[in-house]
Amino acid sequence: MDVALDGDADAEHLLIVISACHGVEGHCGSGVQVFALHDAEWREKAKAQGVAVLYVHALNPHGFSYGRRVTHENVDLNRNFIDFSKPVPVNEPYAKLHSLLLPDTWPPSSENQAAVEKWIEKHGATAYQAAVTSGQYQFGDGLFFGGKAPTWSNKTIRSVLRRHAGSARRLAWIDLHTGLGPNGLGERIFACRDDKVAYDRANAWWGTPAAPVTSIYDGSSTSALLRGLMWDAVYEECPQAEYTGIALEYGTLPITGSDGRAACRPLAAQAPRCTGRPGRRYPGTDARGVLHGHRCLARADRQPGPAGDVPGRGRPRRLT
Ligand SMILES: [Zn+2]
Repeated sequence: MDVALDGDADAEHLLIVISACHGVEGHCGSGVQVFALHDAEWREKAKAQGVAVLYVHALNPHGFSYGRRVTHENVDLNRNFIDFSKPVPVNEPYAKLHSLLLPDTWPPSSENQAAVEKWIEKHGATAYQAAVTSGQYQFGDGLFFGGKAPTWSNKTIRSVLRRHAGSARRLAWIDLHTGLGPNGLGERIFACRDDKVAYDRANAWWGTPAAPVTSIYDGSSTSALLRGLMWDAVYEECPQAEYTGIALEYGTLPITGSDGRAACRPLAAQAPRCTGRPGRRYPGTDARGVLHGHRCLARADRQPGPAGDVPGRGRPRRLT
């Protein structure tokens, strides 16, 4: 992880720009950061406004290096920021789906596939999305695993915040991701606690009338309500600051043609990676479970895009 501060170390106004929370997604975020550092006009404007910019590059360096979404602990970093001194949340729907999402044989049997689709039919695509993506803390080899303890990246970003943001009075945050949605289009997702004043501020800064900042709290975002999100650390490490943040998520190109699996690209590194240990289900791959599970989701859950999307293209639900 590299950190670059462009501006005064004791600036009261600080913008933090982060890449590679989900390792493999860091190519986009890194590109934004490198571009910004070479953009003289942008740097001059920030300086003139008294805004220092802190670039946090490769927050999850293992995932970035190895093309994986998770950390070297097999943890989804954006589910890892919970209070581990308390009992961890229990995601019961995920527990029921786990063996279906990661079956013993691959490709999955038609019976297995049918069982997943039956679950979606019975409970609905929204419930399926929440079950799979909201985070789980019971299956270390499973999907969207939030971990058993703070990861290295969790502890390191906290130390970065304490060192560089401890005196900021106003703190803005843009966390760069790639995921589902139309290629190249960025969805600005509110990344604060459920606070209307903070939302209004975020929307004034980053929203437009045609494409307002979306929110997981009012259903306007395609993301499920998630837990253990990274920005929680800002409140804990920088309580002196007025905090305003978004996740900026860009759609990517498909990798498998025009079928539903195309939507799974940014997740392809989520599932367990081969360690060579006996008992591992998927020697040699770490993508299968995700592609299997989310093929169902992508197919079942496509919906018309909201205003601002590419016309005529359905948009799969967000899996950030
Ligand atoms: Zn992401």
